[in-house]
Amino acid sequence: MTFQQIFHKPPETKASASGRVNLLGEHTDYNDGYVLPTAIPQQTTVQLGFSDDGQHHFYSENLQELVSILDIHHTPSGFASYIFGCIEVLKKAGYTIPSLNVYVKSSVPMGSGLSSSAALEVATLRAIRQLLDLPIDDVEIAQLAQQAEIHYAGVQCGIMDQMASSLADTQHILFLDTRSLERRILPFPEGTTIVIIDSGVPRTLATSGYNQRRAECEEAAKLLGVKALRDITDAKVTDTLPEPLNRRARHVVTEDNRVLEVLQGVTPERFGELMNASHASLRDDYEVSVPPLDRLVEILQNTPGVLGARLTGAGFGGACVALVASGKEEAATQALEQYNHAGYTGRILVPN
Ligand code: ADP
Ligand code: MG
Repeated sequence: MTFQQIFHKPPETKASASGRVNLLGEHTDYNDGYVLPTAIPQQTTVQLGFSDDGQHHFYSENLQELVSILDIHHTPSGFASYIFGCIEVLKKAGYTIPSLNVYVKSSVPMGSGLSSSAALEVATLRAIRQLLDLPIDDVEIAQLAQQAEIHYAGVQCGIMDQMASSLADTQHILFLDTRSLERRILPFPEGTTIVIIDSGVPRTLATSGYNQRRAECEEAAKLLGVKALRDITDAKVTDTLPEPLNRRARHVVTEDNRVLEVLQGVTPERFGELMNASHASLRDDYEVSVPPLDRLVEILQNTPGVLGARLTGAGFGGACVALVASGKEEAATQALEQYNHAGYTGRILVPN
């Protein structure tokens, strides 16, 4: 179904936003730390028009679902909460938003850790900015999107996904300091490409696990007397904490240091090693991996042509990302075949 078929008139405007993959710096963004995402080719597009009946109407082509907002004092559930949240945060920021018809279509896989949620928010906010000519910049778009996700979708997310979706492109890596929002645009390691593989394992425990890790990090920072774990630079300091806070904090501190090492300039081989070290840290210290993800990552790491591989996103299932020598992309396909031979249903998400 098209916008025209759903709403019986053409859209006024449209805007798109990319999904993202994080190459390094996992579970650091809610610790005020450093991240290294890049945009993926898959995008979410939002078409927008004015609604004539005083109600918002949201349609997702992917879900083939139409939601009408009858009561603006009641936050809807599901995908509508992300769009409704974007409208509400704009209102809270002082803008007058009319009733809207919103049509969403996306090639970003949903719930695979490639941030379809941020792509939906950023595309929605960009489309509204365009429709109403709002004076908001791309950083503000990311911040409004994060507020929408936290307060309306109920996900206690950091700022990385929305900043990546709003500011990153597919040709560069975005270095972001999530505390100061200082950023740098970095080139990809020379002669490499990114391959993203979905493990085929759903992220069933992702929300509860994520919230628990956040709480553990807050507790660890409090015990160490710092505002956030980002303020610790020497991983040895974390040894003084009780189990498992010591390991949780060690992951965050070492992961921040891995990102900062990349910022200093590293060879492609070293970049790969840092990704491998990140996975080991997420598996052993942060305990957010699951055996199938470990299996897939291990197969990738042992495949010639692959410089490094790690789980990406919150973990507990979802996708992993590999740094592959250009021209050796078939190495990832071989690794995937070996993984699927063990009974899994993994698939390549990027390149698509
Ligand atoms: P991720 O951001 O890693 O893809 P999330 O669980 O954060 O996973 O976000 C996925 C949710 O975002 C979906 O369950 C849905 O509610 C919403 N969403 C994202 N893209 C779309 C879309 N194109 N149509 C409808 N809902 C979407
Ligand atoms: Mg998300």
